[in-house]
Amino acid sequence: MKNVKIENLDWITYQELTESGKSRIILPIGAIEQHGPHMSLNPDVLIPSHIGEQVAARGDKILVAPPISYGYKSQVKSGGGNFFPGTTCVSASSLEHYVFDVLQAYVNHGNREFILINGHFENSMCLCEAADKLVNKCKSEGISVKVYLLSYWDFISEATIAKVFPDGFTGWAVEHGGVLETSIMLKLHPELVDMSKAVDVEPATFPPYDVFPPDPSWVAPSGTLSSPLKATAEKGELILEECISGILSHLN
Ligand code: ZN
Ligand code: MN
Repeated sequence: MKNVKIENLDWITYQELTESGKSRIILPIGAIEQHGPHMSLNPDVLIPSHIGEQVAARGDKILVAPPISYGYKSQVKSGGGNFFPGTTCVSASSLEHYVFDVLQAYVNHGNREFILINGHFENSMCLCEAADKLVNKCKSEGISVKVYLLSYWDFISEATIAKVFPDGFTGWAVEHGGVLETSIMLKLHPELVDMSKAVDVEPATFPPYDVFPPDPSWVAPSGTLSSPLKATAEKGELILEECISGILSHLN
């Protein structure tokens, strides 16, 4: 596989690959967040990183930057909440400024086109803000920059959803620590998943509002928002292939 990870390049090679904006740069953004007793804290980082590496490897003139591991605060209705041990998050302004600064540094090297691959639902609007401010600042300086922003699960088709969730699909928000992420992790990093510790829970249901301080009783004690028990590596492979080929088809 060709070397597409920026941090593994020497600076001369990096300069040659990126001068005059000739490469596109993928930036994965995730979170460090509990995903139930059966899985590590880092699926939101590892999944978009893998997708980014594969898109870069299969595409033309695409490099992948080191991921941003810390994400915006876990919310009860999409990530179980910010009160679980191990869930380690930053504020919206910190994430926005950090992403902005990283992109600005890549712009300073001559890069002009970016693909942000998000792996943590709560990050979305912070990434919008960073992208919007970067593009506007660069425009005021006479530099034309383009930023694509995507969350990988939006590339999963109805047909795949029907195969992965034959008993019915209750929505991406409650897939936290459920079949989606567990299946992908079983495919990518089986050493970080222990299905003997997986807890069967009903898909979470919530009131039509949030409350602060958050109420931990809204979440199953295991921390997942749906059951991971029907996760398989085969489902993970199906999902990953669709996301990677789908992203590539939109970029080419
Ligand atoms: Zn997750
Ligand atoms: Mn998350």
